[in-house]
Amino acid sequence: MTIQSPVLVLNASYEPVSVCAARRAITLLVKGKARLEECHDACVWKDMRLPSVIRLSRYRKIPQRRHDATRRGVLARDQYTCQYCNAQSPAARLTIDHVVPRSRGGGDTWENLVACCAPCNRRKANRTPIEAGMALARPPRASQLHTTRQMMRSMGAEDPKWRKYLYF
Ligand SMILES: [Zn+2]
Repeated sequence: MTIQSPVLVLNASYEPVSVCAARRAITLLVKGKARLEECHDACVWKDMRLPSVIRLSRYRKIPQRRHDATRRGVLARDQYTCQYCNAQSPAARLTIDHVVPRSRGGGDTWENLVACCAPCNRRKANRTPIEAGMALARPPRASQLHTTRQMMRSMGAEDPKWRKYLYF
């Protein structure tokens, strides 16, 4: 548990909206922009406990914006499973494959990035799936709110305090 530990951020309505680092959560608490809902035993400053879950003081309208694709997001969306051979691996052993290689104009978008194990990535090399004769397990989709929820779940699996806000 450190100042970088993930903190679940709830809307004023108790809906989970995002995850931030404890450092950021503490700033929000100190400024009165959020309230502490759950905390760890460890103290960070004086008698302030390390936050685990905070809730925004004022309801925030969450725009349905698209988030940029991130390595962590793509791995979570694909459930840490190679999209070519279906083998599940720890995050550290997975790579991110550009379905259409970058050198061929493929972008860093949710639709063009998939989790891929190292052997499959080597085998596919600088080819499209069709050229390589490798089929995708399922078409990659953009991150939607449910993906964010899925990410929050996978990040919060370690912290039982998050559960009641994420599983309903
Ligand atoms: Zn594979």
